[in-house]
Amino acid sequence: MKLVRLSPVLVCALALVLAACGLVRPAPMNSSGADTFDDDVNAARQLTEAFWKQQFNASGQTYRPISDFVAYSGTSGPSCGGQPSVPNNAFYCPVGHFIAYDRDWMEMLWNDMGDGSVYLIIPHEFGHSVQAQLQSSFQLNVQAELQADCYAGGTLSALVKAGALTVEPGDDDELFANLEAAGDPTDDWLNPSAHGTAAQRQQSFANGVDGGVGAC
Ligand SMILES: [Zn+2]
Repeated sequence: MKLVRLSPVLVCALALVLAACGLVRPAPMNSSGADTFDDDVNAARQLTEAFWKQQFNASGQTYRPISDFVAYSGTSGPSCGGQPSVPNNAFYCPVGHFIAYDRDWMEMLWNDMGDGSVYLIIPHEFGHSVQAQLQSSFQLNVQAELQADCYAGGTLSALVKAGALTVEPGDDDELFANLEAAGDPTDDWLNPSAHGTAAQRQQSFANGVDGGVGAC
């Protein structure tokens, strides 16, 4: 992913490429080397919030920005409703309406799996903040997780269509590889920590890319 600062370029390739996706493999990082990890993290946050603000406004609602965006290391993260944060994770905390992420872990993903990891994880967590604001209710945790993946896909495709992001070669593979890596090993829908299998997560993400957040 590349942040476009000037002259927006309309690139709608993401939806087309994802629709045809079958191949899952890690792809090299941003070949231009223009974006640093922190640039990508900040861009993902700013763009995702700007997108949701616009979405809420369009439906006559007011988007409530998150109260904090916390980078932590290992076990040093903030607790959420009495639950300590854990290493190698990113999460939305409804009690404090904030997002926190293990910076070391996310930077490792960014290095190993490409910048797509950041543009997937952060919009996914913002998806949970939107669910909280919309007071969405789910019977199973996995449904909330798959909707957050769908929201992430819808957010990214809207940003690409608006020219805020351009898609670089390999980005679609990166995104799908990240979802593959984050998929549950089995189709255990009743597990309270279920996020969905790799295939379910990729399908939900693709639904968001194809149909926008309204299709989620
Ligand atoms: Zn989640």
